[in-house]
Amino acid sequence: MKTHARVVVIGGGVVGCSVLYHLAREGWTDAVLLERSELTSGSTWHAAGGCHTINGDPNVAKLQKYTISLYKEIEELSGQATGFHMTGGLMLASTPERFDWLKALSAKGRYQDIQTEVISVEEAHALMPLLDPACFVGAVRTFVDGHLDPSGVTHAYARSARKLGAAVETHTRVTDIKRLPDGGWQVITDHGTIQAEHVVNAGGLWAREVGRMVGLELPVLAMEHMYLLTEDMPEVAEINRTTGKEVAHAVDFDGELYLRQERGGMLMGTYERACVPWSPLDTPWDFGHELLQPDIDRIAPSLEIGFEHFPAFQNAGIKQIINGPFTFAPDGNPLVGPVRGLPGFWSACAVMAGFSQGGGVGLALANWMIHGDPGFDVWAMDIARYGDWASLAYTNGKVQENYSRRFSIKFPNEELPACRPYKTTPIYDRLLAAGAQMGDGWGLEVPLWFAPEGVRDVFSWHRSTDFEHVAAEVAAVRGSVGLSDISGFGKFRVTGPRARAWLDGILACRIPAPGRMTLAPMLKEDGKLIGDLSLACLTEDEYFLAGSGMAEVYYMRWWEQHLPPDGSVRVEAIGLGLVGLAIAGPNARKVLAKLTHEDISAEAFRFMAIRKLDVGFAPCLVGRVSFTGDLGYEIWMKPEYQRHVFDRLMAAGEEYGIRLFGLRAMNALRLEKNFGGWAREYRPLYGPLEAGLDRFVAYEKPADFIGKAAALKERASGGTLRLRTFVIEARDADVIGDEPIWLDGAVVGWVTSGGYAHNSGVSMAMGYVPKEHADADSGWEIELLGARLPARLQRAPIWDANAERMRG
Ligand SMILES: Cc1cc2nc3c(=O)[nH]c(=O)nc-3n(C[C@H](O)[C@H](O)[C@H](O)COP(=O)(O)OP(=O)(O)OC[C@H]3O[C@@H](n4cnc5c(N)ncnc54)[C@H](O)[C@@H]3O)c2cc1C
Repeated sequence: MKTHARVVVIGGGVVGCSVLYHLAREGWTDAVLLERSELTSGSTWHAAGGCHTINGDPNVAKLQKYTISLYKEIEELSGQATGFHMTGGLMLASTPERFDWLKALSAKGRYQDIQTEVISVEEAHALMPLLDPACFVGAVRTFVDGHLDPSGVTHAYARSARKLGAAVETHTRVTDIKRLPDGGWQVITDHGTIQAEHVVNAGGLWAREVGRMVGLELPVLAMEHMYLLTEDMPEVAEINRTTGKEVAHAVDFDGELYLRQERGGMLMGTYERACVPWSPLDTPWDFGHELLQPDIDRIAPSLEIGFEHFPAFQNAGIKQIINGPFTFAPDGNPLVGPVRGLPGFWSACAVMAGFSQGGGVGLALANWMIHGDPGFDVWAMDIARYGDWASLAYTNGKVQENYSRRFSIKFPNEELPACRPYKTTPIYDRLLAAGAQMGDGWGLEVPLWFAPEGVRDVFSWHRSTDFEHVAAEVAAVRGSVGLSDISGFGKFRVTGPRARAWLDGILACRIPAPGRMTLAPMLKEDGKLIGDLSLACLTEDEYFLAGSGMAEVYYMRWWEQHLPPDGSVRVEAIGLGLVGLAIAGPNARKVLAKLTHEDISAEAFRFMAIRKLDVGFAPCLVGRVSFTGDLGYEIWMKPEYQRHVFDRLMAAGEEYGIRLFGLRAMNALRLEKNFGGWAREYRPLYGPLEAGLDRFVAYEKPADFIGKAAALKERASGGTLRLRTFVIEARDADVIGDEPIWLDGAVVGWVTSGGYAHNSGVSMAMGYVPKEHADADSGWEIELLGARLPARLQRAPIWDANAERMRG
């Protein structure tokens, strides 16, 4: 075995082998994969081998499409068959709600060039004669889905990687990993030690244990999973004979089942509600090529539906039931990327659909390691979406919820209950008492809207019970004053003698003078957006940044990678060490003025100013800014003051009819100002010009900020996309994101977010379209629940286009 390598990949499952292959393909051949047993000895060997392109997140769907396209390539290079059968597939709906959901999913795929077709039950029956048409209402057909040989694929990746010069060592178990003083890693195995610049954790079922070797508690949990294999079935032989094809792959969502042909019989698997975690605390090292005891009672309710929906199974003999474990992150998406605080340590784990996603994960990770960037938008599977708060117990609860809901509909207004409440702000009880309907903001309870006694969300694709109440919250803000808990923002403090110079190089904006704030786009080297923050200068060497709460670890990882080694700059994530309240509306100033002795007149406390101010008794940091686009203040304070400040603001606002508002009202308010948000309008896919943030980019500033050259190029070329806002002729439902945008009968773009702008009384959407079409005066349509609705471009904000209210 080598003693030195540029990269050590731990784990010879489908994911580790894919990572090794992609590294070698990109030229990093000084890479060695270590596998404690034979290749495939984790969850890989007993997988059902199904693969699909469709995913709820369109960017993950894109990587799945890439994965499937790889199989030919690795088969040719390695000479190892992958056993890939492209049977095509059907996603079946038993209820109209499910059919709506499938139509929306299929529409999402449209702009990603993922071919799907909405078909009738009769058409579905013709394609998949095993189904009983009486049990379904319709289907979506997919074309590049199929199944493969899990072992063949894994060996094809490994052999291809070897051919390109990478090494694979089997029967070599990593027992410990140590950080070297020079920044590299020492990987200790039962066959010696290897020094490496980079280590990839692709430990699959043991990813958690491998993480613990470097002090990480990864949010990963294995679940038991069962599928059955039938004896040969005459009905299958008949389909093969008459069509000359294999039986199409099928997902029966309402039965919570998937099925495909396996030799002359069928395979049927289920994500049962009564799911069971496997080895929730520690994964045994002696678990190998073995299976778990099947528990037929647990899957019986699903099988009963399956046998009813696919009657031929009733006469089929069951040959075997496979029960094997595989891993999940709390949201079911992989955990990929560099690990914060551990330079050169990479994660490629929690890949629950290795045969759909393994290729994309390998490509993204190899790009990231070699070129410093994944090369795609991998936000949905970036390990940085979780922080320390995603503990073992939290992961356990959320993974079970996710597993048991794998085939369930998630309505746009639905909030999932597991592991809640978890993080709360000090005014949580006050908000609940006021009727707050809470949402889950990455572990934090955040108010979505405030309901009168006896009213709550009814989950729906259409406007629901919250509509009129959110409208009233919006009216309170625009008409007088509203108050909201904004503690969920990510908050950061940057200090030190070189803080200003450092920020000047990290952020694309001009760094404000003391007492001033600015919007601060943050770019990566290729000029794409990796942050949308607000930056406040408190003193020359103290700065306050606020941005999306879910990006806290993501931002910190980036900043820590770029901090000067001499300690002249310090960055700190404040988390809930600072909580916030926002007041907004034309009477906001009058409310605040009642609680402070200082002059906060329009002249003394201007728009985008920030200052320390006592509010009531409490020392606060107050910025004159509001995401509502109205006259407003963001008030930051230590948690122990929040109840006091809340009570005082509510009392001071009483004479103005102050009203609490939640995130849904905030959405309605920001939409009519054309304000975008992180992970929707602003993502690593878009440049600042494309996203309309170029006015905050200081192209001419002397500092050579990250992404400057690329941003200048984008400005010169005009980029390729434009963010646009639309008003849609919607009737009883509004867009949520990812719907296709049509122009003159062709799909040209996609919606990033939207909703009903109550104050303006219109349904709105924001989304990206190619720049050459971006100013078309007519011909726009937005697809919503299977219908193409006329839309018009809303160039200037529909409300307060000159920002007089916000600046007044
Ligand atoms: C019953 C069942 C059906 C499934 N069906 C499908 C399906 O139809 N389609 C699909 O896409 N996915 C399916 N899956 C999921 C799929 O199996 C996983 O997504 C995939 O196997 C994950 O691969 P991996 O490489 O991440 O992990 P693993 O396969 O667990 O591989 C990890 C490897 O790392 C090695 N390792 C761990 N620690 C060390 C160490 N310290 N030193 C050296 N080596 C180490 C292990 O021995 C193992 O070989 C199914 C899973 C099950 C259980």
